[in-house]
Amino acid sequence: MRNRNTKIQQELAAITGESHVLTNDDLTAAYLKERRGRFDSETMCVVLPASVEEVSEIVRLCRKRNQPIVPQGGNTGVCGGAVSNAESVIVNLQRLNRIRSVDQTGYTMEVESGCILADLQFAAIDNDLYLPLSLGAEGSCQIGGNLSTNAGGVNVLRYGNTRDLVLGLEVVLPDGNVWNGLNSLRKNNTGYDLKNIFIGAEGTLGIITAAVLKLFPRPVNRSTVMIAIESVPDALELFSRTRKETSDFASSFELMSRVCVESAFRHIPECSDFFPGRVYPWYVLLELGDSTDGGISQQLNERFLERAFEDGIILDAVLAQNENQSMQMWRLREAIVECQNYEGKSIKNDVSVPLSNIAEFIDRTISSAESMIPGVRSFAYGHIGDGNIHFNLSQPENMDGDAFFDQWYAVTDEVHEIADSLGGSFSAEHGIGLLKTRDMTRYKSTVELDIMKSIKSALDPDNIMNPGKVLPSGLCD
Ligand SMILES: Cc1cc2nc3c(=O)[nH]c(=O)nc-3n(C[C@H](O)[C@H](O)[C@H](O)COP(=O)(O)OP(=O)(O)OC[C@H]3O[C@@H](n4cnc5c(N)ncnc54)[C@H](O)[C@@H]3O)c2cc1C
Repeated sequence: MRNRNTKIQQELAAITGESHVLTNDDLTAAYLKERRGRFDSETMCVVLPASVEEVSEIVRLCRKRNQPIVPQGGNTGVCGGAVSNAESVIVNLQRLNRIRSVDQTGYTMEVESGCILADLQFAAIDNDLYLPLSLGAEGSCQIGGNLSTNAGGVNVLRYGNTRDLVLGLEVVLPDGNVWNGLNSLRKNNTGYDLKNIFIGAEGTLGIITAAVLKLFPRPVNRSTVMIAIESVPDALELFSRTRKETSDFASSFELMSRVCVESAFRHIPECSDFFPGRVYPWYVLLELGDSTDGGISQQLNERFLERAFEDGIILDAVLAQNENQSMQMWRLREAIVECQNYEGKSIKNDVSVPLSNIAEFIDRTISSAESMIPGVRSFAYGHIGDGNIHFNLSQPENMDGDAFFDQWYAVTDEVHEIADSLGGSFSAEHGIGLLKTRDMTRYKSTVELDIMKSIKSALDPDNIMNPGKVLPSGLCD
């Protein structure tokens, strides 16, 4: 086996140059970190191609040697999709990081898959345009990873998931052939929409090397408001009014429970309370944006808030007076992910349910979790405008962290059951990876699984592309 590995490493080095095939533990460590500490990752080597041609040659070689490949972007995914085993080669796309073109007339940009998301956001702004994809990991995740997980984030409400932001793709298929589907057309009804097979496939069907992304007018006016409310049904009423009374201008509508914001105040020094001395059960962070210079968003927000306050839907509100205050509000929202690290271990969920069932979902999951693990602390927050709740549980103060982690699948099974019974999904935006393959057999019909299996075996008959991810092991062996 050692001889075989050495030979493959040498063959890879002949493609990329020796310095771009990492075998030393010190050098590979960063590519093997797993965010949530749920999976161990190892690798035969990490290879760093710099062009589509190199990716294609690597894949061709691996196919010939029946060598498993794990495509990898910024390694920020939270379901173990980029986790590798000792026999697999990690192909990280970080060196494919060119913005090939920006079209200011067509509102598009063609980018390579290793570009960091935040760099693309800045590049759009430099051209007075806007790339709305935005999420907590944007400083390190790559657009190829976003495409492969069909990432959501905070602006889905107005602009859609990553899938909705893509016009064309370039993909190296599992046989090494390159599919050039880099069209920038808004209308192109010419048979099956192939790009959508690869978006959200988590690297199981090929390696995405480039994409044409949709851009938008830059929202020069943003109006951000922190709102205190009594209950989740009030949040939903507020959401419905927001849509109607602001002409669907809202880009974000984020819900946070008191438990979440209190933890942020406790652990993240720069997070402050916008309602000092007053304790409210729920908070909504709402943002409207427009590209005019007339301040329409701010006016709409002020008028709409006044009416909601008079009608008793909201308890209190602070409208950001400047960019700095808006950023502080967003800092609080983003801190909720981070502050859970200081609360001990946490069991994480990422579910979606139809909007009308969100209140029942939250009530039922909180009471179920508390009866399964007495003393557990429920962090309910999320992109509620999209029906997406991150229902996370922090270990009870008097419980050992490992004993708590042992409850992971029992608790998440229960949460997924409740979501399913309310017409929801067990994975709203984070994907499947390794973490949720067992839920695929539980909640996907045989017909759906058969279609997925047929696509996988048609494109990757030898199952070399990220084996064991998305589809349960055994289904494609
Ligand atoms: C702090 C934080 C906040 C987050 N917030 C959100 C959020 O709001 N919404 C959301 O949806 N997600 C969120 N995520 C998770 C999210 O999925 C990832 O951050 C991001 O989309 C993954 O990109 P990545 O480049 O890190 O991919 P990786 O983690 O490297 O890979 C993810 C998957 O994509 C595959 N892959 C990567 N690149 C390619 C490629 N070029 N071709 C084929 N397959 C590839 C991998 O094999 C793997 O299966 C968050 C994560 C963190 C850490």
